[in-house]
Amino acid sequence: MPKRTARKKPTKNRTTKKTNKRKPAGARGSNSSGKQASTARLKLVMELMAVPGPSGEEKEIIETVRKKLIAGGAKPSMITLDDTPKKSPLGGNSGGLILKLPGKRGAPRRLLMAHVDTVPLCVGCKPVRKGNLVVSADKTTALGADDRAGASVILNAALSVLKSKESHPPLTFYWPVQEEVGLFGARYVSFAKLGNPKFGFNFDGGKYEKVTIGATGAYRIGIEVHGLASHAGIAPERGVSAIAIAGLAIADLARGGWHGDIHKNGHHGTSNIGVINGGAATNVVTDSVHLRAEARSHNRKFRKKILDEITKAFRRAAKQVANVNGKTGKVKITSRLDYESFLLDENDPCVQAAEQAIRQVGGTPITAIANGGVDANWLSARGLPTVTFGCGQVNPHMVTEQLDIQQFEKACDLALALAQGDEA
Ligand SMILES: [Zn+2]
Repeated sequence: MPKRTARKKPTKNRTTKKTNKRKPAGARGSNSSGKQASTARLKLVMELMAVPGPSGEEKEIIETVRKKLIAGGAKPSMITLDDTPKKSPLGGNSGGLILKLPGKRGAPRRLLMAHVDTVPLCVGCKPVRKGNLVVSADKTTALGADDRAGASVILNAALSVLKSKESHPPLTFYWPVQEEVGLFGARYVSFAKLGNPKFGFNFDGGKYEKVTIGATGAYRIGIEVHGLASHAGIAPERGVSAIAIAGLAIADLARGGWHGDIHKNGHHGTSNIGVINGGAATNVVTDSVHLRAEARSHNRKFRKKILDEITKAFRRAAKQVANVNGKTGKVKITSRLDYESFLLDENDPCVQAAEQAIRQVGGTPITAIANGGVDANWLSARGLPTVTFGCGQVNPHMVTEQLDIQQFEKACDLALALAQGDEA
């Protein structure tokens, strides 16, 4: 969860449309409440956090989840893997795990999901309890609560549902891989393989009451500037400086308002030249510079416009730097859409169910729009409306990462409520 939340606003506490005829989540099912269940949940998340699984190397954690599901009563025929390693540029040693359960009542199929990969900093983590928190005993590693907390939250819900005789809608539980490196699991998973769910609930970083209903989209951009090398003291006029070209282009973008926080004609976006590499000596006209940049906006067209402006600025700059023979430099720009933006309507059944379920477990939903990407970006952008909740993760991707146990417990209750579909 490398992503930032842009803005949050408390949702009005709407009154429940229907009175709940069923017992609230946490009250029904044998594994849903009480000290015993709570201890079991905590044990589960600490166990999952200790299993290494950086992006692309998730085989062991996927096997761990599969074994727990089988031991919990899932039939092997209910479990499949997606084909992320075939489609992802990263390859990878395992696909994401999918558990499909038939409904015990007629209702639209719902998806509960959480990614299992962690950032490399989490490998070797030794989770220990410290009061109301789980931290890593090894101070050189992160905890991996992002997103083993989410993975445990939905595993706990799946195990509870498997054990319970009570009614629930058709359910798909999904543990995607390769979220941290480009959302590749969610980007390529086949909806048919997920059983064509109607909507989804994703559990990732932050507080359980935070309902992320939208997120920005982003391009990742690579820029190669090629000039011509020459002796900087003896024959500078014969060289074409790639650094001069890059400098002119960046100055042009900054002056024109296309770098950093961008506001144009009511549209908003951001861009950043984040990396610049080139040159080896002061006495050589530098012939090559490599830059990496990004462009973000919730608005697809405007995001493309930012990308175009960056491209144009570098092309213009390349023409402005010529040597004595009139030779100019060249630029080569590559870009790929890192993740697509989405925004769900507050009245979307998925958002309504999410907010209702939060109230049901005693919380106050706070809708949020993220300025970064989560797995839900790709699912929602591809037509499967998906909201994201947190599970109590604090300081993800840092050695100071923690899991707030109370928040985690609430997220467990919330996932179970959504699995049972009591809010419907
Ligand atoms: Zn995450």
